[in-house]
Amino acid sequence: MQLYNTLTEQLEPLTSSDGIMRMYVCGVTPYDTTHLGHAFTYTCFDVLARYLEYSGLETITVQNVTDIDDDILKRAAKVGMAWDALVRQEVAKFQADLRALNVRPPDHYPYATQEIPKIIEIVQALIEKGYGYGRNGSVYYDVRHDRGFGELGHMEYAEMLATANERGNFPDDPNKRDPLDFVLWQAAKPGEPTWESPWGAGRPGWHIECSAMSMRYLGTQVDIHSGGADLIFPHHTCEIAQAEHFSGVTPFVRYWFHIAMVRLDGQKMSKSLGNMLFVRELLKTYSADAIRVYLLSHHYRAGWDADNATPDLQKAEAMVTRWRNALALPSVTEHGSETLNPMPYQETFSLAMDDDLSTPRAPEHLDELADAIANTSGDLQAAQTTLGTLAGVLGLRLSES
Ligand code: ZN
Repeated sequence: MQLYNTLTEQLEPLTSSDGIMRMYVCGVTPYDTTHLGHAFTYTCFDVLARYLEYSGLETITVQNVTDIDDDILKRAAKVGMAWDALVRQEVAKFQADLRALNVRPPDHYPYATQEIPKIIEIVQALIEKGYGYGRNGSVYYDVRHDRGFGELGHMEYAEMLATANERGNFPDDPNKRDPLDFVLWQAAKPGEPTWESPWGAGRPGWHIECSAMSMRYLGTQVDIHSGGADLIFPHHTCEIAQAEHFSGVTPFVRYWFHIAMVRLDGQKMSKSLGNMLFVRELLKTYSADAIRVYLLSHHYRAGWDADNATPDLQKAEAMVTRWRNALALPSVTEHGSETLNPMPYQETFSLAMDDDLSTPRAPEHLDELADAIANTSGDLQAAQTTLGTLAGVLGLRLSES
């Protein structure tokens, strides 16, 4: 299989030395409902893992929960809930939405606030190695000390700083040596939940959480690290810097698998803009299978617009209905009856998936197979089994919903 790697900006053959793919995907900050952009990210990650397993590899998957952050605290204050109760409520909703879409839960589902010892261990080591410095109870990463910083994003310093500033960086923080330095540990603010550390009470920075959780559950080298393309910089760039200077192992990640943004009204679907289509709303009208086929009709690397969702979802629903019907047709195994050979369809399906996970092409081959089943009277058993198996690789259940 060839997969695009954001770090090298090239298609690369996907290899494994031990038959195991260690896979990490950045999870959500749970304070709002699952929108179609989230669904696209986790469905693509899910299909990649399913396809690798179908190809004979073992997978270990990790998805974190960023269960403490400014947005959670703000939202909790606004709705008058305790922050941890809000997190529990929103995580439950998010998991239910993904379950409804048949996105498999990860093998490990760590929460940042339960990983504090590992986070402290890494921050401590980064300080000792000269990559981190403490000021007034906070600890920062020293980007000037790190010559390789920023390779993943393929940006110059000025562009990195401008992008970081748009995405929550505080360039004027007087504690910082460089405006691009990012927080590893932040000192307690009045009224906020805190955890003890060698630098005083506080809480971890967002980027360090994912370095800690990926290394704790997958080791110092991750095979595939995924997340939305908006995480390339700064989040994943900072993850690399922290992990590689902590462990000395390079590269921290062998393949960076980034999923493009879904737009609505011409803008990235996001909580902050409020332009969202919600999974649970769509599930009232369409089957989970149809929603998945609709999502997968877009390539993971190409941003797309969801403005025209209705006709596309109807088309997807019609398609999965044809596949369900094909599975329900009677197979005739009398002597001399024709046997439908599914191998050619299986091969073209795999060719599409091997080509940088070309999920938009894969359903076409399932449709051709379903069509052949509908037009053959004879032994359909192998063909129907294959149709069910390949649909399963896309995460479709094909049961009546
Ligand atoms: Zn992350």
